[in-house]
Amino acid sequence: MITRFAPSPTGPLHLGHAYSALMAHDLAQADGGTFVLRIEDIDLSRARPKWESQIFDDLTWLGLDWPTPVMRQSDRQAVYQHALSRLWSEGLAYACTCTRRDIMAAVAAPQEGGLHLMGPDGVIYPGTCRPDGPAPNAPLPDNMALRLHMDRCLDRLSTTTFAFEETGGGAPRTITFCAQDVRETIGDIVLARRDMGTSYHLSVVLDDAAQNITHVVRGRDLQEATKIHVVLQHLLGLPTPIYHHHRLIRDDTGKRLAKRDDARAIAKYREDGASPADIRAMVGL
Ligand code: GLU
Repeated sequence: MITRFAPSPTGPLHLGHAYSALMAHDLAQADGGTFVLRIEDIDLSRARPKWESQIFDDLTWLGLDWPTPVMRQSDRQAVYQHALSRLWSEGLAYACTCTRRDIMAAVAAPQEGGLHLMGPDGVIYPGTCRPDGPAPNAPLPDNMALRLHMDRCLDRLSTTTFAFEETGGGAPRTITFCAQDVRETIGDIVLARRDMGTSYHLSVVLDDAAQNITHVVRGRDLQEATKIHVVLQHLLGLPTPIYHHHRLIRDDTGKRLAKRDDARAIAKYREDGASPADIRAMVGL
């Protein structure tokens, strides 16, 4: 078993992160496996060295350890570009110049009552930039947002059902979903953001595969996004790990903790004299 914790160094780790990291670590340890840490710093406009060192510090304090060197996404642009080039040359990715405002204007058509569908990658893309023609005879463009041509991908995969094993939140089970569901409720997701050269979805599937992750432990908020990851794994010929989506740690008002919840930062509890065992107890481990 190889599990991982993959934080973004864009703020302090809070109790929700502690829960995820401890659970991933404990599962691997109970199985004689390995717990791996990965720094997800593709968003260089938000990642900060101070948050990265705080991550190492907090996790060490919690009693976790992991193999080094630690994989950092900012070192892996070449891998992401390689995958993008491949999808691009097969006509499965296309450049998109829409702003958020363009997309909202296109989807909120008055004749449809201004309603639009949200998918796990945000508002379902209305297809403004989607090409009908064959694969382009041009190299992968630089500095452009790229989207996945979902219809074409699903036709190419010629499978009508997808599945992954889920072990979180109850008995282990197989979650299945169909290609039609992906077309209608997910659509043309962003594969690469203009300012990043990649996206969370693309990087996470490539990196989980590169690190031979067998069990992805993360919050329930990402369960729907897992459908995107499974489709990408099929397209890129990567294995699908087992997923363990755990419950979310909430504040007293029932709201899910976010990076801005500094009051729940592990560092704050440490300062106030809490022990690692106190943190475990607080998250119910
Ligand atoms: N970097 C992502 C986050 O912090 C990781 C999500 C995942 O575990 O797949 O939310």
